[in-house]
Amino acid sequence: MQVSQEATGAFRRRRLLIAVVVAALVLILTLALRFIVEKNHIEKLSHTFASKAIQRFDRLFSPLDVAANNTQGLVGLPCDQVRFPLVEKLASLQTVRSIILVDRDNMYCSSIYGSTNLAFSATYPELAVNNQRMLLSTDDHLLKGSPVLLLWTPLEAGNRAGILQLVNIELMSNYLLEPELPWVERVIFNVGEHSLEYGNPLIEKALPSEDEVSYQDASLRYPFSVTLYGPAPARLALLALPEQLPLALLLSLLSGYIVWLATANRMSLAWQISYGINAREFMVYCQPLINARSGECEGIELLLRWHNDRQGWVSPDLFIPLAERHNLIAPLTRYVLTEVVSQLPLLPARSDFHIAINVASSHFHDRQIVTDLKQLWWPANPAPQLIVELTERDALPEVDQRVVAQLRQNGVKLAIDDFGTGHSSLSYLKTLSPDVLKIDKVFTAAIGTDAINATVTDMVISLAQRLNISLVAEGVETAAQAAYLREKGVDVLQGYLFARPMPLESFPQWLSEHQPPGGG
Ligand code: C2E
Ligand code: CA
Ligand code: CA
Repeated sequence: MQVSQEATGAFRRRRLLIAVVVAALVLILTLALRFIVEKNHIEKLSHTFASKAIQRFDRLFSPLDVAANNTQGLVGLPCDQVRFPLVEKLASLQTVRSIILVDRDNMYCSSIYGSTNLAFSATYPELAVNNQRMLLSTDDHLLKGSPVLLLWTPLEAGNRAGILQLVNIELMSNYLLEPELPWVERVIFNVGEHSLEYGNPLIEKALPSEDEVSYQDASLRYPFSVTLYGPAPARLALLALPEQLPLALLLSLLSGYIVWLATANRMSLAWQISYGINAREFMVYCQPLINARSGECEGIELLLRWHNDRQGWVSPDLFIPLAERHNLIAPLTRYVLTEVVSQLPLLPARSDFHIAINVASSHFHDRQIVTDLKQLWWPANPAPQLIVELTERDALPEVDQRVVAQLRQNGVKLAIDDFGTGHSSLSYLKTLSPDVLKIDKVFTAAIGTDAINATVTDMVISLAQRLNISLVAEGVETAAQAAYLREKGVDVLQGYLFARPMPLESFPQWLSEHQPPGGG
């Protein structure tokens, strides 16, 4: 019983371990997946943010291009003449602070100040000499110190005539560059070497942030770019993970539970039994049957043993009832038959030598046992006599009497195992008319110790003798028990006193060493 509990416990622990491992894997995978999805989402958010900002700037700059083109005709005309059209133009462009006309390298007319006289190439060499279209600068006239964006539209390749627009970049940037926390913390508008950052009214080179990652995207139409700084997406995704935990835990628990249920079958002992049959993990042992009077071995009972790397030894008291419940008992009996037939040369080839096999009553259905014996036992033509031991664990009345009769016609003897325990009924003696009764080991153990069971033992013995049925006493462990049973007239004794069950291969050696004095 202890062995069976240990084995069941080991199965439980293995199933539990697998369920826990699966649950942990699901938890890790779910969190990893959520992490990757979240990280990609954050990356995408900042990319979208940058491209949207660029699009909006582009959209704001393009009417300025149109305005400059429309104003081209004014370049070269006297400032008095063009001042009014310039102011008119300015009024229609809300983003422009002033428009300056440049002719022959002279900034000669401003929409604000009217006639001026400033050398263009000396004031803005980046535009005039380096041929840039845009320049981030600081207003030194109207709103001193405030950032402006200069948009230069040259009329000719020499860059000495054209239209210069001073754009209110601070105003624009205030609503186009507003960061989106938490993933975008800083937004910077860059033109060439100069930058304008949201919240900082100074035009200066933007310093990279420590422990923050940057992302940059540039306009395809104008020479500016937008740089974003923010926490690493991985860090943000990591911070967001605790929110995902409840769902991930639920998923993990659920999958663990499903695995626990699903493994019930595969991991069960029943599954292991059918696996063990295919992997030939079972071994056939035998225990000698001793003639009570002569002391000679007159047969053996075949007993299954199961050992594997997964559970070690598993007791027949555990796997036999399980095999019966899962329709695996017939395959096990066939296993025993196949094994013993292949080992027949090891056994005495005499008709007075008995080979007893344990057969479950379910194996009698549809004459299955007869079919199996026809296939596995009789073709080998064995000299020893076969005894089929039927256990009372099963409901014996279900045994088809025609099958019993057929077995008997073929020279097979019928024994009732564990007589006196379980569903014992005296009626079996009549319906099955067995050749042998096996007195269960609890009754043998009762001899000399347990008055009530010992009385049953005596009654079984006299009953069998009156019905002319042979008696085998199981579980004989002491000489006193043997002497008592012998004196009562029990025919055959079986038990540790004579031999423990041994592998079939060891039996010839045992037999040669245990010939009783004077025996044949
Ligand atoms: P069983 O048919 O009553 O077999 C006798 C059991 O008593 C065996 O236990 C044997 O090892 C044990 N035994 C023998 N001598 C002594 C003794 O002196 N003292 C004690 N305490 N025990 C002794 P085992 O091998 O563990 O088998 C247990 C049961 O499993 C068997 O009881 C039998 O019902 C079943 N079984 C074993 N092999 C097979 C098989 O091949 N087919 C079927 N259907 N059942 C089997
Ligand atoms: Ca038996
Ligand atoms: Ca028994």
